[in-house]
Amino acid sequence: MSKVRYSAFKVLKEALSGHKGWEPVWRDAEPKTEGYDVIIVGGGGHGLATAYYLAKNHGITNVAVLERGWIGSGNVGRNTTIIRSNYLLPGNEPFYELSMQLWENLEQDINYNAMVSQRGIMNLIHSDAQRDAFVRRANSMLFADAGAEYLNQDDIKDRYPFLDVKNARFPIKGALSQPRGGTVRHDAVAWGYARAASNLGVDIIQNCEVKGFNIDNGVCSGVKTTKGDIKAGRVAVCVAGSSGRVMAQAGIKLPIESHVLQAFVTEGLKPVMDNVITFGAGHFYCSQSDKGGLVFGGDIDAYNTYAQRGNLPVVEDVCSGGMAIMPMIGRARLLRSWGGIMDMSMDGSPFIDKTEVNELYFNGGWCYGGFKATPASGYCYAHLLATGEYHEVASAFRLDRFRRGAMIDEKGVGPQPNLH
Ligand SMILES: Cc1cc2nc3c(=O)[nH]c(=O)nc-3n(C[C@H](O)[C@H](O)[C@H](O)COP(=O)(O)OP(=O)(O)OC[C@H]3O[C@@H](n4cnc5c(N)ncnc54)[C@H](O)[C@@H]3O)c2cc1C
Repeated sequence: MSKVRYSAFKVLKEALSGHKGWEPVWRDAEPKTEGYDVIIVGGGGHGLATAYYLAKNHGITNVAVLERGWIGSGNVGRNTTIIRSNYLLPGNEPFYELSMQLWENLEQDINYNAMVSQRGIMNLIHSDAQRDAFVRRANSMLFADAGAEYLNQDDIKDRYPFLDVKNARFPIKGALSQPRGGTVRHDAVAWGYARAASNLGVDIIQNCEVKGFNIDNGVCSGVKTTKGDIKAGRVAVCVAGSSGRVMAQAGIKLPIESHVLQAFVTEGLKPVMDNVITFGAGHFYCSQSDKGGLVFGGDIDAYNTYAQRGNLPVVEDVCSGGMAIMPMIGRARLLRSWGGIMDMSMDGSPFIDKTEVNELYFNGGWCYGGFKATPASGYCYAHLLATGEYHEVASAFRLDRFRRGAMIDEKGVGPQPNLH
């Protein structure tokens, strides 16, 4: 049991002494000259979770996480914090359900308050055909013990009087609800996994960009970085929106495009929305943060980019989606908006796989939905790195699935990132 670091007494003491006594949450390391058993490239949620589960589940502690910037600077600190396991297809649903179960026990496991809030998620239904599709999805969720409920129009009107149920263009006919879905404080997930991994001996090396791989005769033996070459038994890439650029350094082309996704938060309001609500006829989703801001987002910007900020047409599109179902949102003032780079795969599903280069592994293609996957992604990637075998719930996430015709096209829209 680790020592208690945070208490009301400690906060008071630090407030009176200029906050000089707080200890760093994790150890900031420098690369070891002798190298590591495993190097993880990318200190986002997935990279840090992978390091933690490698150490905790498999006893592999000679591990370094190399992060180009600072921990939490990527999408793990930029997302809209939604977690859910409301998937349809067998390749996806068991994986996301494992993630949900890991979220449910995360705070006890890593001894860190990540503000896991199972406030529920509600996907609005606007047509009879959509109701059929969501009922089918709900059945798939029930088979996986993920839990699902159907809400009719009256249930929705009672709970959320601000929703425009009778909207002529997008009438709200019902909703698919997953009561176990919700939100988690995103950057606390990065900090919590970083602390837990560091406590188990993992080196977290910030401001260390990977610029290339050392590959001889088809075997990867380490990485070239801004802090010099570092040797490794295995290299595990986990860089989300930078996947294409980083893997190109190993000569590997991925079925992934990078797009910016924007998010928005309003000024703080009194409690008005006690769960996550998603619009079913356009791309808009919203929840209320503990500080009172309405946190919302929608579609990706259509063009490929690595710039972490988006353009005004999408701002307009997202806001009009919000106005269509909850006109009251038009009276709230927007406080902030930001963007993150999404690794959009061509069927909307991710990859956790070996590559054509021996000892070089790849994790990516998480699209809009990789935050909720963080625990299971780390768990299953660590399993693959430690055992060489695919974890049973992640066995479909293979890079060659397009060649084999085994796509996991959850939305049934084909290779169109803006529709996933
Ligand atoms: C606006 C927005 C809203 C979102 N909302 C949700 C949501 O509500 N629910 C959900 O499930 N998902 C959501 N997502 C998606 C989710 O945030 C991502 O899929 C997920 O965070 C990606 O995994 P990660 O945390 O490891 O990525 P990141 O945090 O981006 O980690 C990758 C890291 O790799 C580092 N890196 C890159 N190149 C190099 C290099 N050469 N060397 C070393 N390090 C490198 C980067 O600096 C970065 O820190 C959202 C994303 C955005 C942008």
